[in-house]
Amino acid sequence: MSTSVPTVGRMHTERIRIVGAREHNLTGIDVDIPKRRLTAVTGVSGSGKSSLVFDTLAAEAQRQLNETYTSFVRNRLPRYGAPDVDAMHRLGATIVVDQRRLGGNARSTVGTVTEAASLLRLLYSRAARPGIGDSSAFSFNEPAGWCPECTGLGTVRSVDIGALLDTGRSLDDGAIRFPTFQAGGWMWRSLAESGHFDTGKPLRDYTEAEWQLLLRGDTGTAGRPHGRYEGLLTRFERIWLGKDVASLTGGTRAAFERVVTQRRCPACDGARLSAAARGARLNGHTLPECTAMEIAELVPVVTAVTDPTVAPVVAALRAQLDRLVSIGLGYLTLDRPTGTLSGGESQRVKMVKHLGSSLTDLTYVFDEPSAGLHPRDLHQVIDLLTSLRDKGNTVIVVEHDPALVAAADHVLELGPGAGAAGGRLTHAGPLAGLDTDTGRRLRRPPVVRTCPRPATGAISIRGAHQHNLRDVDVAVPTGVLTAVTGVAGSGKSSLVCTGLVAACPAAVLVDQAAVHVSRRSCPATYLGLLDPIRALFAAANGVSPALFSPNAEGGCRHCGGLGLIYTDLAFLDPMVTVCEHCGGERFGPEALRYRLAGHTIGALLRMSAVQAVEVFGQPRIRPVLERLVEVGLGYLPLGQPSTTLSGGERQRLKLAAELRHPGRVYLFDEPTTGLHPADTDGLLAIFDRLVARGHTVVVVEHDLDVVAHADHVIDLGPGAGRQGGRVVFTGPPADLAAADTATGRALAAALR
Ligand code: ADP
Ligand code: ADP
Ligand code: ZN
Ligand code: ZN
Repeated sequence: MSTSVPTVGRMHTERIRIVGAREHNLTGIDVDIPKRRLTAVTGVSGSGKSSLVFDTLAAEAQRQLNETYTSFVRNRLPRYGAPDVDAMHRLGATIVVDQRRLGGNARSTVGTVTEAASLLRLLYSRAARPGIGDSSAFSFNEPAGWCPECTGLGTVRSVDIGALLDTGRSLDDGAIRFPTFQAGGWMWRSLAESGHFDTGKPLRDYTEAEWQLLLRGDTGTAGRPHGRYEGLLTRFERIWLGKDVASLTGGTRAAFERVVTQRRCPACDGARLSAAARGARLNGHTLPECTAMEIAELVPVVTAVTDPTVAPVVAALRAQLDRLVSIGLGYLTLDRPTGTLSGGESQRVKMVKHLGSSLTDLTYVFDEPSAGLHPRDLHQVIDLLTSLRDKGNTVIVVEHDPALVAAADHVLELGPGAGAAGGRLTHAGPLAGLDTDTGRRLRRPPVVRTCPRPATGAISIRGAHQHNLRDVDVAVPTGVLTAVTGVAGSGKSSLVCTGLVAACPAAVLVDQAAVHVSRRSCPATYLGLLDPIRALFAAANGVSPALFSPNAEGGCRHCGGLGLIYTDLAFLDPMVTVCEHCGGERFGPEALRYRLAGHTIGALLRMSAVQAVEVFGQPRIRPVLERLVEVGLGYLPLGQPSTTLSGGERQRLKLAAELRHPGRVYLFDEPTTGLHPADTDGLLAIFDRLVARGHTVVVVEHDLDVVAHADHVIDLGPGAGRQGGRVVFTGPPADLAAADTATGRALAAALR
C-alpha cells in the first residue's frame, strides 16, 4: 500500500496557498499546503487549527463551490460568509469529514449511510429465495419493502392518555398537559368553540360519548350542527407522533417524552421490513439476520454467496464491509442507528463512504481521525489516509496523535498558546524539524507511574451486562485515578457510563454530549456568571438589570440576542452566520451605552476568563473564572456561543461547572479528545488535584499518557463487540505494559 512519496519541494510541488488568514484568533498568517500529500495540523487546543482548516480553508472551498452554480440554484443555497482571509489559491473541491454525529434520523443506520444496505438489498432481490421483487421490496425506507405497521421505523409510538390528560381537571383548568394544547391556545379554542363540551366540567365527569367525542372528534359523523371537530387525540397523533425528538427543545421535548411512548413494533419485531422481505432467505439467512450480525461476522456470510450472476454485487459489498472492518468498526451491525454512534465512530463511518470513491484530486479534511480509536487500530486508519493520498488526493488532518502526526508528509503547528496567545504558524515542514516546546512534548513517550496512590476503598460492579458486557464483576478503587481501556467497541462506555453509574448513583458523568447547549448558551450563562455581571452593570449605572440581558430588552433586535443568525436547512445542519447588526455582540445600542470599569457588556463577554479575572474580584464571579482557567479554558471568550465549542471544550466546560459542588466520583468519557499532549498534561493535573482532595476519578481513555499516569487500569477485551465485553487485565500501568492484551502491547510499544 505504501508507495514512495517524492520529497516535498524536490519538484515544483503544487501547493494550496492561504494568504493573510485572520479568522477568529489567526494573526494574518500565510500558509502553504502541499497538494497530493498528507498534512497534519497540530497545536494546543484553542490555538487556531479549526479556524484555519475548517473556518477558512473548508469554508472558502464551500463558498467557491456555491459560486459555480447558476444564479437560480445559488439564490436557493445558504450564503456562506467569506472567511477573513486576503487570498486563497488552488483550493479545489474539498470534502470535510468531521466528528459531527450522523443525524439522529431514525431511518439512518450504519447500513444506509455506507450504502452497504443497498448492496445487500440488491443481492437479496437477485439471489434470495423466494425473490419478491426488485431491491425496493427489501428496503425499509420504501413503501414496497417497509413494514406497514411501523412504516419502516421498527418502533411504534402511542400516546399515553393518562399522561396527556389530567381527568381531575376541566379544559378551562388545564386538563390538557401539553404546552401547545394549553387553555387559551388555538387547540383549546377549537375544542371550546366546537360547542360540544362544557369546558368547566372535570374530564372524569364526562359521559362515555363526550369522552369519545373529545378524543376522536366528529369527523366521521356528517351533519352535526357545529361543523367538524377533529378530536384531541386524533389531532395530537397527527401533529406529534411523527416528530423527530431530536428537533424538539426544552419543555416541548420533555412534555413529548412524557406523553409519547415508544415500543418495538409488534408486527415486524423491530426488523422494519414487510413480512415478505423478512421471509426471503439467502443461504439460509434472512435479511434482518444479516443486518443484525456484527459486520465482521457478515463478511463470511456474504463471501459464501457464489452465484456467478451476482458476483459483481458480492464483490462491491465485500469491499465496503472490508473497509468497515479495516477501520476498526467490524463490531458494529448494519442495523445500528447512526444516532447511537460516538463522534469518532461517526467520523469513521463517514470515512468509509469516501474511501470507496474513485474520485481524485480532491482535498479531504479530517477532524482528529484518531478520536475514539485504540492505538492497535491506528495504523489501519493511517493506511486508509495514505491510500486516499496515493489516489491523488490532498489529505489534511487536524490531529494530535503522535503516530498519526509522524505518518504525515508535512506538519503545520499553530500556537504557541491558545486564543489570543495563539493564532500564529509556529512550524511548517517535516515532523523532524518541529522543535517547539509543544512539538517536543508531542514526541515524548508516556511516563509510567511507578508508585500508585493507595485506594481508600472500592465500588463494586456486579454482573454488568449492558450491550456486549459478559456479566462483568469488577472493583473500581476509590480515591484514585482509574483508566478503563480496551479497543473501540470492547465495552468501556457500556461499563462506565451505564454499569458504574448504576452502581454509584452519586457519580458525576462528564461526557462530551452532556452539555445541553441551547442557542442562547455561552460559558457565561452556563456557569451562571451572567446574572451577577448584569447586577453589577445595573448597580454601576443605576438602570435595570434586564437591560443587560440579551434575551430581554437589551438584546439586539435583529438576531433576538443570539448574536448569530441560524438558517435551518431541511436535511443539513443549520447554517450559522454572525448577526450583521450587532456583530455577534448580542446587545442593542441601548445596552452598549453603559460601562463597567470602562468596558461595555459586549466587550466584557468577548473577554476570556484570563482577561476577566483582572476586572472581577467579586466572590460570585472570581472563583468561577478561576475554575475555567483551571480546566484549561482560560482562553475562551465568556460570551462565545456554546454551539461553536468543540466536544472537548464542552466537556471541560461541564467539568468547570461540576467542580462548583464537588461530587465524590467523576467519570470522564475520553476527555483527551481534541487535546494536544501539552493540554493533556493540564488535564492530568486537574485529575491529580481531584484525587488529592479525596475524589475518585475514572476515565475511559485510549491516550497512553493518561493510561500511564493512572493508579489503576481496567482493560476490557480481548476484542470488540461479541469478541469483547470481558475484563482482560486489572492492575497498575507498570504491570499493564507487560500484559498480553491489545492495550498492554500498545503501551509497551510506546515505551520502546
Ligand atoms: P483549535 O481548533 O486549535 O482548538 P479553534 O480554531 O477552534 O482552535 O479556536 C481558536 C480560537 O478562536 C479560540 O480562542 C476559540 O475560542 C476561538 N473561536 C473558535 N470558533 C469561534 C467562533 N465561532 N466565534 C468566536 N471565536 C471562536
Ligand atoms: P467502547 O466504549 O469500548 O468503544 P461501547 O461500550 O461503546 O464500547 O460498545 C460496546 C458494544 O456495545 C459494541 O458492540 C457496541 O456496538 C454496542 N453498543 C454500544 N452502544 C450501543 C447502543 N446504543 N445500541 C446498541 N449497541 C450498542
Ligand atoms: Zn414494524
Ligand atoms: Zn444581532
